[in-house]
Amino acid sequence: MNKKELKVEIAKLFKSMDYVADRYLSKTKINKKKSELGYNIYQQLGLLWEFLSLQCKHWDGYKKKGDKFLCKICRKVKGIKEKYYLLPVNGGKVIGRMVKPGKDNLRKLSKKEAEIVNDTIKFHGAKLNVAVFKEYASKFGKLDKEINVAADRVVTLEENGLVVDISEYITGIKTKRFKEGGRIYGGFLWELPKKILRKMPIILSYDKSGKLAEIELIHLQKKM
Ligand SMILES: [Zn+2]
Repeated sequence: MNKKELKVEIAKLFKSMDYVADRYLSKTKINKKKSELGYNIYQQLGLLWEFLSLQCKHWDGYKKKGDKFLCKICRKVKGIKEKYYLLPVNGGKVIGRMVKPGKDNLRKLSKKEAEIVNDTIKFHGAKLNVAVFKEYASKFGKLDKEINVAADRVVTLEENGLVVDISEYITGIKTKRFKEGGRIYGGFLWELPKKILRKMPIILSYDKSGKLAEIELIHLQKKM
């Protein structure tokens, strides 16, 4: 909806809300059934208000009311956290913006305090999580000592039995065989015996100077 249409729709909605409030909610002499019905209609209109105002870009700015600022068009409080996203069915969808972990902390943070974003979406069957956090102190597994976990931005994609983790420092692809806590061995490629390398369904591509260009994992689903 454009600004003009939205202004008209929101104005109509507020009229309907006022009508319901005057007729069913502010009168003292009204039977219980009717006031319940009025209450429900008011709630439903409130939900519609929430969705309509998601389309508002707050074009006309805000006006002060008490200690808050309200949008002149949709009357939403400035800076309030939205509960829903409005996404187009066709075309690209955008949720949130790129966030990087911030600079040094002034004090030690817990994991919860360090969290900037931790959000998950299931998109046509693929699961995507973005976690961004500042540096924090945490106890790991059986270790009784606290260690500092570096600030990071980790993007995790789960699809077809694979888990791909992309962080600031390292990218990992886990197959179904990887089990948290299970025995897993590893090393740099040149450290592994040929006997093991032969079983690895991996192709490395490199450019003229020998620098890594692509890593391909041949995905033999049944054997992996
Ligand atoms: Zn607005």
